Amino acid sequence: MRKTNTALIGNIQKFSTQDGPGIRSTVFLKGCPLQCVWCHNPEMIRPQNQMILSPSRCIKCGACTEVCPKGGITVGEEGPAIDFTACEACGACAEVCYAKAITPVATEMTVSYVMETILQDRDFYEDSGGGVTISGGEPLQHGDFARELIDACSEEGIDVCIDTSGYGETELLMELASQPAVTHILFDIKHMDSGEHERLTGVGNELILGNLRALAADPGTHDKIWARMPLLHGVNDGEAEIRAIRDLLQELGIRRVSLLGYHEMGIAKARHTGAGYMEFEAPSKERMNEIRDLLQEAGVEVEA
Ligand code: SF4
Ligand code: SF4
Repeated sequence: MRKTNTALIGNIQKFSTQDGPGIRSTVFLKGCPLQCVWCHNPEMIRPQNQMILSPSRCIKCGACTEVCPKGGITVGEEGPAIDFTACEACGACAEVCYAKAITPVATEMTVSYVMETILQDRDFYEDSGGGVTISGGEPLQHGDFARELIDACSEEGIDVCIDTSGYGETELLMELASQPAVTHILFDIKHMDSGEHERLTGVGNELILGNLRALAADPGTHDKIWARMPLLHGVNDGEAEIRAIRDLLQELGIRRVSLLGYHEMGIAKARHTGAGYMEFEAPSKERMNEIRDLLQEAGVEVEA
């Protein structure tokens, strides 16, 4: 039966090895309620579609400037520039840009269409213990789509990971997480202090930590939790912060965590979609090792 729920999908990344066990296809859903200042997929935050520039591809034909109803595009030595404050994402410029120097960030896809792509790599999932990861953006912003995609994967015998900020309806999270096809919940822990969390992401951490506690309290979902800690030097890599996270992991019996050092991947994408951005540094290698040791001493399996 055709699966007709649709969502704006930024990418279906094949052969991903960073988003759960084995070889995976990661489905990036557009729209996130958080606005992390270090986000490495800033083009996926807004729920609406938008344009992204690839200036080096521009052949300076000028076609885009002629079709923009807002008169919002200029083309110079550096390629195209869009007045993103005026852009209404009508897509006219992308349609005439055969060089693909301007493209929409996302495409609306049905679950059936996504499954066609996913099934192309079924052998790789089976051989590697991999599967599909639903990421974003935030999967909990797309409950109907995520539910139908999990069902479709389940029918095909494909395992699913959910990659979540933890910020969403508890009932929906528990429903999705408890599906037998869902083997792992990749769950970000960004900062233990709610005020700092809000300064860094736009929202406090109460709902997120409440959802983590709910997953940990349910025997059907406890062992699926795979915590992830994005780490920024001088922001959330201090001793008190790391010990607070370690204590929480111990209290909840969470046994697996990945350490994700900051990287600059999001900066160019932010610049090319007109988003603001801030630059940070990753913790030093020594500090990453210290954090790993502290967590391992507490009995947590650490991937760095
Ligand atoms: S249509 Fe594309 S290639 Fe032509 S000027 Fe615009 S951005 Fe450059
Ligand atoms: S998508 Fe934006 S920049 Fe492109 S033609 Fe439409 S309004 Fe103009």
